[in-house]
Amino acid sequence: MIIGADRVEPNACVTTDVCIIGAGAAGITLALELSRNSIPAVLLTGGQRRERPWDRDLYRGVTDLSYPHEPLEQGRRRAFGGTTIAWGGRCMPLDPIDFQKRPWIPGSGWPIAYADLLPHYTRAIELCEASPFSFNASETFGPGRGPMINGFDGPEVTSSRLERWSPPTNFARRYEPELRKAPLLRVLVGGHALHIQVKATGRSIDYVRAAARPGREFVICARLYVLAAGGLENPRLLFVSNDIHTSGIGNSTGLVGRYYMTHLAGAPLKVSFADRGPAFHYGFERDKAGVYCRRRFALTSSAQEQHEIGNASACLHRPPIADAAHGNAIFSAAFLMKQYAGALKNGGARSLPVRLREGAPARRGHWEVIGQVSPGSAVEMSKIFRGRYLASRRLPMVLPGRSASEHYLHYQAEHAPNRDSRVILSDERDAFGLRRLTARIGFSDVDARTIAEVHRIIGDRLDKTQTGHLVFDEARIQGHISDLMTNFNSEAHQLGTTRMGNSPRDGIVDVNCRSHEVDDLFVVGGSVFPTSGYANPLLTIVALSVRLAAHLQERLLKGVALDGG
Ligand SMILES: Cc1cc2nc3c(=O)[nH]c(=O)nc-3n(C[C@H](O)[C@H](O)[C@H](O)COP(=O)(O)OP(=O)(O)OC[C@H]3O[C@@H](n4cnc5c(N)ncnc54)[C@H](O)[C@@H]3O)c2cc1C
Repeated sequence: MIIGADRVEPNACVTTDVCIIGAGAAGITLALELSRNSIPAVLLTGGQRRERPWDRDLYRGVTDLSYPHEPLEQGRRRAFGGTTIAWGGRCMPLDPIDFQKRPWIPGSGWPIAYADLLPHYTRAIELCEASPFSFNASETFGPGRGPMINGFDGPEVTSSRLERWSPPTNFARRYEPELRKAPLLRVLVGGHALHIQVKATGRSIDYVRAAARPGREFVICARLYVLAAGGLENPRLLFVSNDIHTSGIGNSTGLVGRYYMTHLAGAPLKVSFADRGPAFHYGFERDKAGVYCRRRFALTSSAQEQHEIGNASACLHRPPIADAAHGNAIFSAAFLMKQYAGALKNGGARSLPVRLREGAPARRGHWEVIGQVSPGSAVEMSKIFRGRYLASRRLPMVLPGRSASEHYLHYQAEHAPNRDSRVILSDERDAFGLRRLTARIGFSDVDARTIAEVHRIIGDRLDKTQTGHLVFDEARIQGHISDLMTNFNSEAHQLGTTRMGNSPRDGIVDVNCRSHEVDDLFVVGGSVFPTSGYANPLLTIVALSVRLAAHLQERLLKGVALDGG
């Protein structure tokens, strides 16, 4: 059943077995898995089907000028479907090494292994509509069509790993019919959790206080509670629920909000290739099921160990589309579409003609590029546009043609765990009176080394195998790193703020995502990652949610709710 939370009677008590706070990929996955196993649950969505400005404002943070970070409402969506209403669809699992304790990366090591998550990744990729769980090019496309570049793969870096792309699936839209039909599930659209009320003993939860709007509150009483509100809201709700545990739930060792990690990414250098013919497996290729896949360069675990760096990968990328100097009509058309859509959407106080006039100088060069298109290229362009903007399974990105003489190399690297990188409460409050967050992002020496080394290793291998060339410009890389860290953007990946650990000393939750301090409270999402790897997080978030659903089912069937067993 799906109903508006504003239809719940004021001060009512909604009872269920499992209360799920948050309806993004994590919360919806959990609700689906539980309802398939006939477990009663209530799902609070914290927003509507589209993100409204009022809801978005609840996510706004308070900037600390000493710590660069994009505005906190930018990289997430307060809505039914959560950030899946906007995500790009890139799916990659973490690597086995990401789970291991690596002596050269302090704070590394998950209390679970890759093998523990592997069975759940299969279901996760299915939910993301990007099956099968196959990330090796030869396995997917056949033995003759393995690496991106023949003869390139070596002991330190390979080019045969794949990423798979979801359509991208909007979890609310895709799974709403199933959620609606689930007899024991109640989805409360627009229901916001305000406070997790712990009992006086401090070991279990009494209820969760929630509201559809300020002043119209109700409570949810459940046997088990799951916080699935995203990597920033999970710690925020623990912090603000501080009447019994005065520093916030699970925070007796001061770990909540710490180890805030994202990913480090950019495209500072260009690369060229010797063979740009058909054996160069570049760009997006569809597998038998029609899923878009792309090969990437990936560091091996031995390279990471030998150079004492974090994990990293890189893909071939397009030039920055805002700069008409690229001379590519497709990129110019994409840029113009974005600009016009932005002017139409972002109303503000200025009128549409004024907003359109403002962007005109930046657009002029792009119109010139488009004006030079031949009729043949125009047909090709319209084909690419249909694939990118009109198809139900979207072409993930428009890239330069394979014959381009050089490509941007876009890397994505692990952001190492760092105790001083954190989110904290500010003194400013949102419309419900909840204190807003401030992010204080921090970096470690290994972060900079990982970025430099991934470029050096790829460049060395291209030279050694004579398959291509990368101009390794040390000054440019160092300039890029310094720029990245002083104008930081999280890439919309919020990780680590309620990390998993074997004991309360090193984690907020245990191997089953259960709070070390409150027995009937679970947390799921990117916030439980102890390390970030380089992989975009959604697939792992969904796999963790599938695993958690199995665990909750087992606990409820055994009748174990509160005794910690
Ligand atoms: C533009 C963009 C592109 C991205 N592309 C990719 C990609 O290609 N691949 C990838 O892996 N990742 C990508 N990401 C990141 C990815 O989307 C997120 O990591 C992921 O969706 C997080 O899922 P979640 O369920 O943990 O949290 P969210 O999706 O953030 O969901 C949180 C849910 O909790 C609700 N909520 C919050 N507070 C409360 C409250 N107090 N009470 C009740 N409900 C509450 C919200 O309304 C929402 O429903 C992208 C992100 C963005 C912004």
